[in-house]
Amino acid sequence: MFIDVDDTVKAIKSYPEFIFGKISQYDVARFIRNQPVVDAAPVVHGHWIEISLSNHTYKCSVCGRLLVNITDGKNNVAKHYPYCHCGAKMDVPDINVGNKDG
Ligand SMILES: [Zn+2]
Repeated sequence: MFIDVDDTVKAIKSYPEFIFGKISQYDVARFIRNQPVVDAAPVVHGHWIEISLSNHTYKCSVCGRLLVNITDGKNNVAKHYPYCHCGAKMDVPDINVGNKDG
């Protein structure tokens, strides 16, 4: 479960017990538990692996999905395809530069 920090801070500022300094640890815990929660999932990070210079093909480091005929250049692949269809955020530097596996 996650809470929205901005909404929680706004609620704290309007909560009378906080304003008048009459609050216990129990009150703080109860207050936090009563905040609305948001659905969220951990971000999976990956990168596009260049596997073929001639076909301009890149592979997702997480699921293996291929991007083919991407002619924008290696430095622009993540800019134009910042997420894979598997949900991975493509923001991890490619540590295998120069090691082609295809
Ligand atoms: Zn993927």
